[in-house]
Amino acid sequence: MNSGFRAIFKEGAMDVEFPFDPLERAAQIEPLVMQEEKRIYSRFRASQYYGGIATADAVGCSFLCAYCWNYDRNLKPEPEDSFCTPQVVAVKLLNVARTCSYNMYRVSGSEPLLGERSFEHLVQVVKTLVRYRPNAIFILETNGLFLGSNPDFIQSLRIPNVRVRVCLKGVDEKSFETISGVKREYFSYPLTALIELEKAGITAWPALMGDFYRENDIMEFQLKLKTDHISADLELENLEAYPPVVGNLKKRKIEF
Ligand code: SF4
Repeated sequence: MNSGFRAIFKEGAMDVEFPFDPLERAAQIEPLVMQEEKRIYSRFRASQYYGGIATADAVGCSFLCAYCWNYDRNLKPEPEDSFCTPQVVAVKLLNVARTCSYNMYRVSGSEPLLGERSFEHLVQVVKTLVRYRPNAIFILETNGLFLGSNPDFIQSLRIPNVRVRVCLKGVDEKSFETISGVKREYFSYPLTALIELEKAGITAWPALMGDFYRENDIMEFQLKLKTDHISADLELENLEAYPPVVGNLKKRKIEF
């Protein structure tokens, strides 16, 4: 992977200087996408991932990954989308699931966990879903920053219906910074999240977009995960090269 992203530049809309501090960004973004217990969502839909999953697309992230399909909305969250209570989110997801005969649920397009308020919102979404569908499976897709920096919150995720997919953004500090836009010293936070989730007995696994790395890099990274006592296998996903995604990757000089 090319390392040309060390240079700092600005993204007009929110004057983001890369690389940035993701905890500071999360603290700025959460108040934009949360109103009391409500969070901004842009749509509710059926998705083919996981063999079929009801999906709520939210807005707002602590990272700005070059390959994010929801990059522009996450760069500058707009209040024109709807603020929804956890109960409304759950009901809309249940309606999608009922129509498609799904039993799996997730939030996508954003980071569900920005801070304490969005964490509590997410937990209430899950609890409401489970009240109506006790066998529901909720896949929490997260960049791992919040849980890695606040491991005390992990206990609240000890709900049998929850599985956590921690989406890793690099195999080392340099690739993490280039892909996510986040300062490289935060590379270890998602790994800490995985370790703490496993200690808490919560089903969790790491996922990585494999397109940017050589086979050897991935094998070495898999070894590192095992050495760090992360026992779940690494899931490798493939890039979906939408035109804006390709544009962002070029901007950061990332080859794939
Ligand atoms: S962590 Fe996920 S939602 Fe956030 S910018 Fe990266 S790909 Fe997008």
